[in-house]
Amino acid sequence: MISCQQLIEFCLDYVEGVLPDEEQVGFRRHLSQCPDCVTFFETYRITPELSREALATQIPASVRESVRSFLQSRRSE
Ligand SMILES: [Zn+2]
Repeated sequence: MISCQQLIEFCLDYVEGVLPDEEQVGFRRHLSQCPDCVTFFETYRITPELSREALATQIPASVRESVRSFLQSRRSE
């Protein structure tokens, strides 16, 4: 099973439909077992690209650090 951090990293690819099948399975399995990530993903999906940094203030504390570091790593690319 993938980690919360991986789920967050896979989010964009999943939403765009380009995530490989194998990762999609892990992605869905994680969502079926992690309510925090369900909350994150539902919010992510309806949040426009420009507003996604605001996500970090709206998600459960247990996922927040992963999201923050993910967004920071994307920004520095
Ligand atoms: Zn999770």
